[in-house]
Amino acid sequence: MQKLRRRRCKICREWFHPKYSNIWWCCPEHGAELAIRRTNKEKEKVLAKRKKEQREKEIKAKDKLKVRKLAVKPLSYFTKQAQTAFNAFIRERDKDEPCISCGRFHEGQYHAGHYRTTGANPELRFDEDNVHKQCAPCNNHLSGNIENYTPRLIEKIGHERFDRLMGSHELPKWKREDYERIRDHYRKKLKELKDVH
Ligand SMILES: [Zn+2]
Ligand SMILES: [Zn+2]
Repeated sequence: MQKLRRRRCKICREWFHPKYSNIWWCCPEHGAELAIRRTNKEKEKVLAKRKKEQREKEIKAKDKLKVRKLAVKPLSYFTKQAQTAFNAFIRERDKDEPCISCGRFHEGQYHAGHYRTTGANPELRFDEDNVHKQCAPCNNHLSGNIENYTPRLIEKIGHERFDRLMGSHELPKWKREDYERIRDHYRKKLKELKDVH
């Protein structure tokens, strides 16, 4: 048998000549100590692994809860999200324009006013030609001030687009995913507008 090369004890760092290749300790005491150390290391590893698994489990449970919470939200929740994003885009698009109905610039609040209402024409809810910046009084108290809205709208978008708007439109069967898509689309468009300005 070939004599093994000397090596350092893993515990005391002293040189020694091992009898077998798997001996890493100079004396039985250090052999025992090394065994304990190795066991402890193993235990720590197992503990760390368990901790990590627990953390991952918690994250997964949280995600699941989030998904479940969204799943029980009514469709109107997503409609509203999409409408909010769309309206914010309209207000930014028309930022430098006066109220579409009364032509005033004022300090008060502005809304995104639907020309054809979402009640009567829900299919035009997200039609960019159908919605324009409007002052709060016109939007809230004058039912959109429609008689003044009409001529200004034609002036703004032209007869052709106005005729298309007034034509008949199919009512899309928007699902949650559609509303989420519309919401994300207009959030992105709003951001792009703001980045340009
Ligand atoms: Zn030793
Ligand atoms: Zn107005």
